[in-house]
Amino acid sequence: MHSSRTNKACTPLFLQVVSDVTADPTLPRTKDVRCPQCNHNEAVFLSANTEQGMTLYFNCVNCRHKWRDYV
Ligand SMILES: [Zn+2]
Repeated sequence: MHSSRTNKACTPLFLQVVSDVTADPTLPRTKDVRCPQCNHNEAVFLSANTEQGMTLYFNCVNCRHKWRDYV
């Protein structure tokens, strides 16, 4: 009998804690994006410094699809 290991997801911490960031009015929004899933042009975005540099995380306000972009 062995304990099951938890898979470490790549999801940043703030997206794990805040399950519905699109409902948070304090987060910045942008209309300069295009959701790859539903083609909506507004998303909540968050930025974080990662090993790859500055990473932008988008969360579509329409379908809540999440994606990231490296700048
Ligand atoms: Zn969408």
